[in-house]
Amino acid sequence: MTEIAHEGYRPTLFERLAAAPHPSLSFQASFWHATAPEGPQTAPLEGEAETDVAIVGGGYLGFSTALHLAEAGVEATVLEADEPGFGASGRNTGFVVPNFLTGLDPTVMARAMGEEHGRLLCDMIGQGGELVFELIRRHGIDCEARQSGWLQPVHTPEKLAWLEDRVAQWRALGRPVQALSRDEAVYETGSDVYHGAFLDPTGGHLNPLAYCRGLAAAAVKAGATVHTGSRVRSVERQGDRWRVATDRGVLIARRLLLTTNATGGGLAPKAEATQFPITLFQVASQPLDPALRDSVLPNDRAAADTRKELVAYRWTWDNRIVTGGLLASPFGSAERARTYHLDRLREMLPQLPPLAPAYAWQGRLAAARDFLPRLMTLGDRESDQGWSAIACNGRGMAMTTALGRRIALWLSGGSNEKLPVPITRPDPVAVPSLASVAFSVWLPWNRRIDRAELGRAK
Ligand SMILES: Cc1cc2nc3c(=O)[nH]c(=O)nc-3n(C[C@H](O)[C@H](O)[C@H](O)COP(=O)(O)OP(=O)(O)OC[C@H]3O[C@@H](n4cnc5c(N)ncnc54)[C@H](O)[C@@H]3O)c2cc1C
Repeated sequence: MTEIAHEGYRPTLFERLAAAPHPSLSFQASFWHATAPEGPQTAPLEGEAETDVAIVGGGYLGFSTALHLAEAGVEATVLEADEPGFGASGRNTGFVVPNFLTGLDPTVMARAMGEEHGRLLCDMIGQGGELVFELIRRHGIDCEARQSGWLQPVHTPEKLAWLEDRVAQWRALGRPVQALSRDEAVYETGSDVYHGAFLDPTGGHLNPLAYCRGLAAAAVKAGATVHTGSRVRSVERQGDRWRVATDRGVLIARRLLLTTNATGGGLAPKAEATQFPITLFQVASQPLDPALRDSVLPNDRAAADTRKELVAYRWTWDNRIVTGGLLASPFGSAERARTYHLDRLREMLPQLPPLAPAYAWQGRLAAARDFLPRLMTLGDRESDQGWSAIACNGRGMAMTTALGRRIALWLSGGSNEKLPVPITRPDPVAVPSLASVAFSVWLPWNRRIDRAELGRAK
């Protein structure tokens, strides 16, 4: 398997300007890759084969859909360009987050999607953490999973009213979330910069690549077919079937689902252009003195705060700190990716010793302009039976796992429940990759706002 990766996917000029992919920050360079158990034995698609549902893309969304289809007795075949988890699913921070990005709370969701879909979607993501850990237990997935809670520390006192409101909205849906006081937040995080925190005890963290490989193995065991090393070059509607072509094979399918996230590489240009790609950097420190766990995230929770340039951090099973985020410019990014986020963490956790970047890697996520998931039709007619689902938006592990299950229930006809995500036509943005640059360009400005807010809050 080669990196620069997403072989066949060429980052645009704008993406390169935002954060040039760097060979030293490859998929294989991650801590997850160094420690995840092997995935299932699979091979590329050769010659011609047939299936009911062809799924293109082997991340959480593709494998959760395949697993649940197979469990419902529906024939499903996953075609993955590289290997399971090669996209965002194998490179993320490993946080299991049972909600959306900050700001997308139930009342906003109801306004954005209508009462019914807003409610269905919030219920689905609210229960998403429970689903992830339940799948891990049921399928015996070895991925260092800890359902120790997801924490969102609040960095200014002004945000405490927002915190109370957020907690009230999710509690109204029956979610067991809590607002922590300043003392509790300081204890839970180990940092005195915080004034309170949102806690969802059903979240947690895991090794994201191991989880993805485990989902793939569970799908295979349930009867799905998985072909790795099988980049799909074209999809074409022929009569009442889809013709899905890779370099060495052709899959004829009754139905088609694209789950290629930020890296489809032009298979469905309009659907892909509803999202803009964002590159994030990740780093794992050297193993630290286990005694530090008494004062930093003592309950082993996953923490991602409310700053515009958010600080996210967690422990690994072997006492490393994992953190990461955006970088403002591509120049020298490979070097800064190794130190910038670790240094930032130490500023708010002075009890930590100097942190060395034992592992550094990068990944690409896709976000829609409204940060909402999409289930889009491919082809011109409803009867074309082809869709592209993109539900990443930066917090996608619970979301994509849960959505894959719901799509599978829908495709198998096994549920009368309405789909939480409406089926829509693609609504592409004019130059998606320009939006990627905007993220980097705004970053210094966002940092200034964060610094000013933290300064005022002292
Ligand atoms: C650095 C980083 C940190 C993140 N941290 C978190 C976190 O802590 N918690 C969280 O919930 N979310 C996090 N996310 C987001 C999360 O990783 C994603 O939402 C999730 O992995 C998306 O899953 P997916 O299946 O939709 O896409 P992906 O995992 O990206 O899978 C798409 C797959 O499609 C394959 N593919 C693409 N084109 C083709 C083709 N033509 N033919 C065949 N295969 C193809 C790719 O190789 C890839 O494997 C993070 C993302 C990044 C990048």
